[in-house]
Amino acid sequence: MKSVKIFAPATVANLSCGFDVLGCCLDTVGDEMKISLTNSNEVKITKIDGANLPLETHKNVAGVAVEALLASYEKKVGVDIEIYKKIKAGSGIGSSAASSAGAVWAVNHLLENPFTAQELVQFAMEGEKLASGNAHADNVAPALLGGFTLVRSYEPLDVIKLHTPKDLVMTVIHPQIEVKTSDSRSIIKHNVSLKQAIQQWGNVGGLVTGLFTEDYDLIGRSLQDVIIEPLRSILIPEFDTVKKEVIAKGALGCGISGSGPSIFALSKGEQTANIVAEAIQEVYSKTGLDYDIHVSKINSQGVKIID
Ligand code: ADP
Repeated sequence: MKSVKIFAPATVANLSCGFDVLGCCLDTVGDEMKISLTNSNEVKITKIDGANLPLETHKNVAGVAVEALLASYEKKVGVDIEIYKKIKAGSGIGSSAASSAGAVWAVNHLLENPFTAQELVQFAMEGEKLASGNAHADNVAPALLGGFTLVRSYEPLDVIKLHTPKDLVMTVIHPQIEVKTSDSRSIIKHNVSLKQAIQQWGNVGGLVTGLFTEDYDLIGRSLQDVIIEPLRSILIPEFDTVKKEVIAKGALGCGISGSGPSIFALSKGEQTANIVAEAIQEVYSKTGLDYDIHVSKINSQGVKIID
């Protein structure tokens, strides 16, 4: 049996101004998976460690994503999937995306790469559709391509890998509260004013330019969301205080990670990112809530082989 062990990274989607189109890949936060090819002609989830998730192939995002890939593959093969979960489901840092992206990347690797990265994103999106009802790519694209990614278009799918300035470091806090995806989706308005749209696309352009030119001030100025954040942030305890404190401590920008409840802050350099983590800790220690804090460089590779 041919098999591979991989690191399936966590990701931060939206990055303030880029709702459903921008995302980036983390380096020290992620799951592990072992994927094996078998002669069974079936996709099986054989083990899940660290989380209470469905073992049925059609209910697990990893199973659904691999079945989408195999439906486009000319030969019949079976796949066994072991998942070692470290990213909590519903955290807003791409728990489902890590499983979908990791599984399709590993199967493609074991089959000696018949599919392009763009095709893998499309297969992994089937997993996202199962998790949230919406086949979005802003987590699976950075998990598969690494670094920062932009979904320029969904129809047809056109995913672009952006440049990663080497000093960017992410601080993420995951408050252990449940924000129902249905609530965080229902709170969003489906119409935006022209004034908001102008601000938002100006910031997307600014952020992409800032990444390519390694202009950290421009990155900071562009990490603004006038459409989603004002509505969704009310579901996240102490969001405004955290944002004010981390900017005061030198973070370039701060916003909601994916659909929350995690909050991200981007900083220049590890030292600032750690000071930012301490500032968040100070705010959160007063709430009585449990939380996890991660400080991570940007992973410009995406899914990787371990061992
Ligand atoms: P996040 O908010 O961290 O991106 P999601 O809300 O996208 O997480 O995904 C979590 C949902 O997907 C949960 O309902 C979970 O039960 C479901 N799910 C199914 N399979 C998996 C899997 N392998 N890993 C994580 N979540 C999964």
